[in-house]
Amino acid sequence: MSEPRVAVVGAGVIGLACAWELRRRSADVVVIERADVGGGASRGNTGWVSPSLTYPLPAPGMLREGVRQLLTGGDAFVLRARLDPAFVRWLWSFRRSCSSARFDSGIRALLTLNRRTLELFDSYRDAGIAFEMHAAGLVVAARTAGGLDLYRRTFQRLHELGYEGGSIDELDAEALAALEPALDRAQVMAGLHARVDRFVRPEQLTAGLAERLRADGVEIRERCEVRTLGRRAGGWALETTSGPVTAQRLVVAAGLPTAPLLRRLGVPIPLLGARGYSVTIAGRGTPPRHALYLAEAKLGLSPFDGGVRLAGVFELGASNEDISPGLGERLLGAARPYLGGWQPDPDGPVEAWAGLRPATPDGLPLIGALSGLDHIYLATGHGMLGITLAPATASLLAPLVLEGQAAPELTPFDPARAL
Ligand SMILES: Cc1cc2nc3c(=O)[nH]c(=O)nc-3n(C[C@H](O)[C@H](O)[C@H](O)COP(=O)(O)OP(=O)(O)OC[C@H]3O[C@@H](n4cnc5c(N)ncnc54)[C@H](O)[C@@H]3O)c2cc1C
Repeated sequence: MSEPRVAVVGAGVIGLACAWELRRRSADVVVIERADVGGGASRGNTGWVSPSLTYPLPAPGMLREGVRQLLTGGDAFVLRARLDPAFVRWLWSFRRSCSSARFDSGIRALLTLNRRTLELFDSYRDAGIAFEMHAAGLVVAARTAGGLDLYRRTFQRLHELGYEGGSIDELDAEALAALEPALDRAQVMAGLHARVDRFVRPEQLTAGLAERLRADGVEIRERCEVRTLGRRAGGWALETTSGPVTAQRLVVAAGLPTAPLLRRLGVPIPLLGARGYSVTIAGRGTPPRHALYLAEAKLGLSPFDGGVRLAGVFELGASNEDISPGLGERLLGAARPYLGGWQPDPDGPVEAWAGLRPATPDGLPLIGALSGLDHIYLATGHGMLGITLAPATASLLAPLVLEGQAAPELTPFDPARAL
């Protein structure tokens, strides 16, 4: 019997990883992308592959912190409120997810999903997928005495709940400065070093996956927008801007726009956009060696070959990728106090970017079959964790799509919980 034809909607990191796992299992795959490969949220992010920092966003104390940010006009969290029942429902559901019990079960689910993450990234490289990957680990750096508290508590909880990725090193000011000379020794007083974490250049990961998929015979149709998903005998008929596409199985991995696409099918899924920004810059001095998280500023920094990327901000409810004037200077201004041995070059190029994280109210992705409809599968809602979780999501979803084998690891991510 010939392998089924599978259409994957969306060529972000999630859709491409799914296409890769499906193709490896000999499926006939077509990927449909309304813009360019990897041009959505998957492009300008920091590319952290961070099992040590994988936890659901709704956490005990998170509401208090969100309100504090809003009242003090902090830049890291912004609420783009609107009078829309779906928005209010999302917030209500987020509030309910902030309990200790739900946080713990979310961590357990993500730990299980992440179990093979690093191994899967290695397998991509072994398969000849070309992308930049760094393995020096992640350093959280703080300028205040309490700056590390949240991260220390989170790391500890991950360990208590079964995280097996090794311990986290505590660093005093001296040890931190020795490990990471790019930081300002006089300003940064303590740090945590998670050795196992990595970072990849996300735009290279998506380009590398697409190149490899095409070489393996997968058709990737760019600038082709899926307008409607229609059912037909034995599968699906998609109406796209370049004509109809038919397939026996359908994987929807369209990031935030998955919500309007499924709404047209009568399926309301709770996704909100959480806009974040990055700037990729040149600098002077000794570039950072690690992925850095600047704790109080809530900014991540990834030193890629040939450019350092600084990213952050969580603008919940945003619906476009507009970049406000002065954004680059705001991010750089917040990062500068941490930096010593390396400083952004004031005359160098600044590449600014914005992306919409697809965020679910319980902070867990939606991965699995859509109940009540045959042969349609979701892989979205990865929020702040899409790069980290893409390979694991795909490796567990592909057997479900092709053989109907539902891995127990996917149970907590079943889209049914959100419908
Ligand atoms: C500032 C920032 C920093 C981040 N840092 C990290 C990090 O360090 N580590 C990490 O793990 N995660 C990080 N993330 C999160 C990560 O970027 C996302 O979780 C991930 O990119 C989501 O991937 P995706 O494939 O679901 O969505 P996308 O990359 O948005 O892909 C969806 C694709 O579907 C296409 N599409 C949409 N609708 C249609 C349609 N109708 N027809 C055809 N195609 C369609 C879109 O054009 C898009 O290309 C960060 C995000 C931001 C914003």
